[in-house]
Order: sequence, then C-alpha cells, then structure tokens
Amino acid sequence: MKIVTFDGGRIGVVSQDRVIDISDLVDFSAEEWPPVGVNRLIKDFERFRPQIEDRCQTAEGQLLADVTLGTPIPWPSKIVAYPVNYHDHGHEMGASYRANHQGFFLKPPSSLCGPSDVIELPDVPGREVHHESELGIIIGRTCRDVAREDWQNYVFGYTCLLDMVVRGKEERVFRKAYDSFCPIGPWVVTADEVVDPANLNMRLWVNEELRQEANTRDLVLDIPGMVEMASAVMTLYPGDIIATGTPAGVGPVHDGDTVRISIDHVGEMSLPVIQGTRGSTSVFVEPYQLHIAKEK
Ligand code: MN
Repeated sequence: MKIVTFDGGRIGVVSQDRVIDISDLVDFSAEEWPPVGVNRLIKDFERFRPQIEDRCQTAEGQLLADVTLGTPIPWPSKIVAYPVNYHDHGHEMGASYRANHQGFFLKPPSSLCGPSDVIELPDVPGREVHHESELGIIIGRTCRDVAREDWQNYVFGYTCLLDMVVRGKEERVFRKAYDSFCPIGPWVVTADEVVDPANLNMRLWVNEELRQEANTRDLVLDIPGMVEMASAVMTLYPGDIIATGTPAGVGPVHDGDTVRISIDHVGEMSLPVIQGTRGSTSVFVEPYQLHIAKEK
C-alpha cells in the first residue's frame, strides 16, 4: 500500500492512478496540531488495513495528478541519518570513516517537504548546496534495543529521500537543517511491497543528467544494522525516518534545476530547485571549495 498526504494534510492511499481519502479513519482534522494522523495510521496499521481495503473497493477518490502531495510523514519524532554509508561516496569525499564506526546524526523534522514542493536554496553566497539521494526507512512500532535479526518487525515501509546539504566544514546538522532540505515521497510504500530492500536500484538526475546510480546492496552498514544501531541509543517511534546514506555522485544544484530521484519498487519524484532569499548567516561567511575525488 502507498500512503500519501495531500491537499493540506489529508491522508490517503494510492490505488492505481487515484488517491483514496482515509483521513476520517484516523480522525484527521485540518485543525490538528501537531499533524500526527499518519503516525496514528502507522502505529495501528494492521487494525486499519481491512477498512482501508474496503474503501479502495468502493470509493472513487481523486486523480493523483489532480492533488497536491505533501510530505507523507509530516511529524516524525526524528529523522536519523547515516553519513558515509557507501564506500564510493566515502572515497569521493576523502572521508576516513564509515557509518558503521561513526554513528548517525539527526535532521530536524521541519526540514521535511513533499513531492509537490520546491527545494529552496538558502542565501549562502560562495557555497554549494548538494543533493544526496537516499533510501528512507519508516519505523512502524515503538522499539528500543532491536536485535538485527528482528529488524523487520519494526520497519513499516520505505520512501525516496533527498538529504540536501550546504557543503562545508561547519556543523553537519546545521548545514543539513534548512527548511525543504529533506524531501521525502512521493509516498511511503509498505514493507510488504518491497520484497528485498537490500537489492534496490536507486538513481538521481539533475535535469536530464544522471548524477547518482547505486544499489542498496552496497550499503556499508546494512538496514538491519541501522535499525539495531539507532535503537541501541534511543527509542524509535512509529513514523520515525532513517536516511540510509548516499552513494557517489553528489553535486551542486542551482536555481531552475529539477532534481529527480527514483528507487525500484519504492517510487519516483521530481522537485524544482529555486533560489530563496532567506537563510543568510554568519556561519557561511567564508567561501568553501569542496574537492570531490573522481573514481579511479
Ligand atoms: Mn546523507
């Protein structure tokens, strides 16, 4: 099943080329704040599933092409992100470490946006903003200390995720925290539709140029290991997101570009990039020249 939010936070499932509204099943109201209807849906999904399936049989819904898709998970408690989790990206960045011996960082939930949104470049002259294409994992159940062999009990589904970043040597979290720096979507696909998440092709284009191409089998710290490591440190909650790391091929985006990400069995989405006027800060006052090593 494919879970979306649309038209101002309504909650839906995608059935062929249509969106079926299931907001009422989880008591969604447009006034709800914080917007945690999707978290409720994920937490009790097996209870809701028969009602959702019934509705998909009877409701007409709206054409997917006619709705505005939001971030499929508006209010996770956290976004856990693994840095340098493909060897080829580690090589291009000259990084001596890998995620399995480095741990993770966090992105703020306020950086999330969805497939109908735009990526807004902050006003940081002399700096490049880079794309990182990543598989996103969605946690399904509250958990702590998950053993790696039990990881599947706690994963709800998957999504395409862009981990946008201002390149530099300052705090990583700071550079990755801007609003719109974590597009996810176009939906969350439930785990039953992804037979082997450890063998997914992932591609990213800027305009028509293929920039990144990888397979999740090349993750350094694998998906069970990522769930194990994150839950060793903190309680994970339904709707929490894990950004699994990016392969080689990261690079800058500019005003007017379109970024497209595609992951087999998960989905595909394109977001335009615009130059914003906000985000100026003394942190980025010095220019920064990144050296990316080309593959030998
Ligand atoms: Mn990343």
